[in-house]
Amino acid sequence: MVEARGIHKHFGQLHVLKGVDLVVAERELVFVIGPSGSGKSTLLRCLNRLEEPSSGSIMVDGIDLLDRKTDINKARQRIGMVFQSFNLYPHMTALGNVALALRKVQGKGKAEAEARALAALERVHLADRADHYPGQLSGGQQQRVAIARAIALEPRVMLFDEPTSALDPELVGGVLAVMRELREDGMTMVVVSHEMAFAKAAADRVVFMADGRIVEEGPPAQIFGAPRHERTRAFIGQIE
Ligand code: ATP
Ligand code: MG
Repeated sequence: MVEARGIHKHFGQLHVLKGVDLVVAERELVFVIGPSGSGKSTLLRCLNRLEEPSSGSIMVDGIDLLDRKTDINKARQRIGMVFQSFNLYPHMTALGNVALALRKVQGKGKAEAEARALAALERVHLADRADHYPGQLSGGQQQRVAIARAIALEPRVMLFDEPTSALDPELVGGVLAVMRELREDGMTMVVVSHEMAFAKAAADRVVFMADGRIVEEGPPAQIFGAPRHERTRAFIGQIE
């Protein structure tokens, strides 16, 4: 579903990604961990071309993302992204926020956009809050609206960059539960997060990044229970 090969990214003098290969199969949940500054967010942002890789190749759902002939706006519709910050429009309801994406990005009419938006809100268990404004929702509910906004566009893969990092601890569970359900519905997912319990329970594969490279990857039991690299061991030792 996602095939990134030899990805390098420079910011001026700074060499942030140093040849990353990441292949994600359909329906796979890949969980990415690593120290701050190791390049996790940059890698995710390259996967939907919010950042332009300096070199390498990226195929998503059969589309060559770096080919100049590719319509990137169209390609991006196949790639949903959820960030730490929810970025909802405060003056629009939950339904309005989700419907707007459908109208703007996919050119749906008002009635169809709202019907689809409501269906997406149902998937994140917020249909009963459709008429609420972001300010009337908890952080966890706002993040679930942001997830609904992404899945309403029917992406083939979802990228999550620390989706629960901005939330109070008691709100984290609801967001992770929605992510588990998405995964059970067969969504292909790449998740950067510190929620190691979620990784152990839900990840097919854990990728450990350090200093712009993938140091080690494998099933959660290997990475958390029996890491093979010293660097991974040190990192896992720190966080547990
Ligand atoms: P964290 O766990 O703190 O979120 P990360 O693994 O996501 O870290 P990145 O945000 O990908 O790390 O950053 C990797 C490196 O690239 C850092 O040194 C960062 O300062 C640098 N960097 C990221 N974005 C830019 C940018 N737009 N311009 C210049 N440098 C950047
Ligand atoms: Mg980051």
